[in-house]
Amino acid sequence: MRQISAARFIVDHNVGKLAKWLRMMGYDTLFFHGEDDSSMIATALAENRVILTRDTHVMERRLVTSGRLKAVLIACETPELQIKQVIETLSLDIRFKPFSICLECNQPLVERSKEQVGERVPPYVFQTQQQYMECPACNRIYWRGTHWQAMTRRLEEFMSYKGEEK
Ligand SMILES: [Zn+2]
Repeated sequence: MRQISAARFIVDHNVGKLAKWLRMMGYDTLFFHGEDDSSMIATALAENRVILTRDTHVMERRLVTSGRLKAVLIACETPELQIKQVIETLSLDIRFKPFSICLECNQPLVERSKEQVGERVPPYVFQTQQQYMECPACNRIYWRGTHWQAMTRRLEEFMSYKGEEK
């Protein structure tokens, strides 16, 4: 399958955990809260997003079967295997653009200097970290600390995970 270098996603509520992992890798990912598949499909079509879902009905839509809309049916319940399936099926790059999108609200992060974040981060972080990013929507401050490294490491573990599919 052709690699989609700048794929954008819409994640159905039944596979919601995928959203944070995709954002962590740097992929623009909407989380669909609603129950009405049609509005998810309309958004996917309008914004050229790949649908990730466990709902077989979505896969039977004509827009999907005809190939106009790309959708991936997530096979398993385990989140580790779900993200592994998405990465493998679409040849995603785990280190695509880490640290570029807010994990909570999918907004592109904006660079901030040490002075700009000042007292908004814990003192030990301020002393050890030089680079910061801020979400313009929720104002969370991100830095390349241990949390981010731990998440990347977990992702790499998922990729070597050989769990039984249910
Ligand atoms: Zn945010």
